[in-house]
Amino acid sequence: MYPKQIDYIIPKNIEDLLSMLNSYSNAKVIAGGQFLTNLIKSNMIDLDVLIDISRIKELNFVKLDGNELIIGANLTLNEISNNDTIKSKAAALAKAALSVADIQIRSLATIAGNICSAYRYRDIPSALLALEASINKISLNKEESLDAQEFFIDSLNTKCSYNEIVKSVSLRADSKRSNYIKLRELNSERSIVSMALALFESSNESYIGIGVSAFFDKPIYIKYIIDDKKVDAREIYNEMMSRYESIIIKDDIPLEYRKRAIKKVIDKLIADTFSDYKDLRLILNG
Ligand SMILES: Cc1cc2nc3c(=O)[nH]c(=O)nc-3n(C[C@H](O)[C@H](O)[C@H](O)COP(=O)(O)OP(=O)(O)OC[C@H]3O[C@@H](n4cnc5c(N)ncnc54)[C@H](O)[C@@H]3O)c2cc1C
Repeated sequence: MYPKQIDYIIPKNIEDLLSMLNSYSNAKVIAGGQFLTNLIKSNMIDLDVLIDISRIKELNFVKLDGNELIIGANLTLNEISNNDTIKSKAAALAKAALSVADIQIRSLATIAGNICSAYRYRDIPSALLALEASINKISLNKEESLDAQEFFIDSLNTKCSYNEIVKSVSLRADSKRSNYIKLRELNSERSIVSMALALFESSNESYIGIGVSAFFDKPIYIKYIIDDKKVDAREIYNEMMSRYESIIIKDDIPLEYRKRAIKKVIDKLIADTFSDYKDLRLILNG
């Protein structure tokens, strides 16, 4: 069955876009189209109007403002992985973007499209959680900034409602270092687990922000406080497992395989990130 006819409109700017969203009752924005067009082609979504936001220049920027890095909604994953400021201030995000699919998809897929499609296997959410990001939304009546932990509701839903859009994402740019790793299913682009970490040090406390996606039904954040200058990968694993009990995963990967894989992933991420960091003693799952 062919998809039904859908009207296609192109707003000039954000203002124009928001008033369009308000005046249609069954519309959706499209950015890179790498997720939405598949839903439309397979008749999995019922729409009357598509609003193409990909040409809105105000949504395409990167700005470093003190300890905050702000990334416009329309930045593509390719632009993110090649951007020098993002690579130096938020390496985990640059690596997560580079891990997505292939160059054709990355050159169209946007950061907002990735997080708003909110499908469990997305790679960007774990990096945003580790870097303690906020998601900045706008609607006709208000602008709102939400902690990334609040933004992701479950495998398919986010706190971005019908008549609002994600305008940008703000990240902490003051992590001492950050990193990302993805373990793929065999012969697939889909992740078994995507994991990112970022080290934050201050005179009061040192901790590692950890973001995990694909492993759970929604992306999760773990704050690992560093005691006695030691990072114990076993504690991180145990913390993840304690969350695992409460979130059901519906797929066919055997639990024992999943658990072994996660230990390896944590060990590799910790070892790759900190083995040259003289101030920290590392204990791995082994
Ligand atoms: C073959 C293939 C392989 C893939 N592999 C991976 C992978 O390995 N890892 C991974 O993470 N992803 C993967 N993806 C998914 C793809 O990367 C993401 O879906 C992509 O980032 C979506 O971005 P987009 O700009 O194309 O979004 P679109 O398809 O344009 O939109 C996706 C959703 O986000 C909404 N949206 C877009 N922009 C905004 C905004 N500013 N505000 C509010 N809502 C918005 C749209 O309404 C829609 O609901 C793959 C996709 C394909 C086709």
